[in-house]
Amino acid sequence: MKITLWGVRGSIPTSTPETKMYGGNTSCVQIESDDTLLILDAGTGIQHIHFNDNLSHRRIDILLTHLHNDHIQGLGFFKPLFNQDAEVHIWGPASQTQTLRARLGRYFAPPFSPIYFREFSCKLILHEISNESFDIGSINVMANFILHPGPTFGFRVMAEGKVFAYIPDHEPALGSKGLIENPDWLSGSQIVKNADLLLHDAQFTAEEYAAKQGWGHCSMEDALKYASILNVQHLLLAHHDPDRTDSELDRLYHHLKESQTSDMPFAMAVEGSEIIL
Ligand SMILES: [Zn+2]
Ligand SMILES: [Zn+2]
Repeated sequence: MKITLWGVRGSIPTSTPETKMYGGNTSCVQIESDDTLLILDAGTGIQHIHFNDNLSHRRIDILLTHLHNDHIQGLGFFKPLFNQDAEVHIWGPASQTQTLRARLGRYFAPPFSPIYFREFSCKLILHEISNESFDIGSINVMANFILHPGPTFGFRVMAEGKVFAYIPDHEPALGSKGLIENPDWLSGSQIVKNADLLLHDAQFTAEEYAAKQGWGHCSMEDALKYASILNVQHLLLAHHDPDRTDSELDRLYHHLKESQTSDMPFAMAVEGSEIIL
C-alpha cells in the first residue's frame, strides 16, 4: 500500500515561507493498492492529485472523516468531479437530521460557492456510512465514529496485510482527567489497535490543550500516549496548528523525543511524503 500525504495542516491552510517544509495544505491523504485509489479527506491538499483527462473506466473514492471546512475545502476544485467520464464515490457521515447529500449541498451553493452540487458532471455516487466495514476494490475500510464535534469518523485502511489508521481530528481525552488507560474504553480503539501506521491529530501542546478542551483536538503528548496504549507500530503527528512554524515543529519534536517514555517510533507528518507499507 502506498500512502501519499497531500495535506497535514489543521484548520486553515497556510502559505508562509516559515511553514513550507511541513506544508500548509489541509487534510488529504492518497492511498494506492493494486488498481484501487482512495482519497481520505478533501482539504486543500487534494489540489495536488492529478489525473489524465481520460478518466473513462477510472473509479475514484473519496472518504470524508467529517464535513468541517478544512476537510472539504478542496472538493469544489477537484477536476474529476467535472469530468463526464469519471466515476466518483464520496463516502461520509449524514447527521441526525440531514442526509450526506443535503449537508454537502449547503456548502456547494451560494453564498458559500458559485457552483451548485448538481453541477458536478461526473457519475457521482454518495455513500452514507456508519460504524461499519466495507471493501473498495482491493482495500478494506473500517469506519468508526470518534470523539470530535459533529459526526466524525476514523478510518482503518487494510491492504496487502498492512493496516493504516487515519484520525486527523480527534479529542480522545475529552470528558475525563487525561486519557483512559483501558483500550476498551478509548475512542477510536477499534480503528487504531495494532496498526502498522497511525496518522493522528496533534494540533496542540499539552499546555495549549488545557485552555482548549472541547475544541475537538488532541495534544501531542496525548497522541503519543494514545498510540502507545493501542500498540501502534509507527505514529505520524498531524493536523499541525496553522500558527506553528517549521522551526517550532522541529523544536517540539525534539522535546517530545527527549521526554518519550516508550520506544515507539514517531515523526511529524510532512506534506508531499510517500510511505510504502
Ligand atoms: Zn480538521
Ligand atoms: Zn474537524
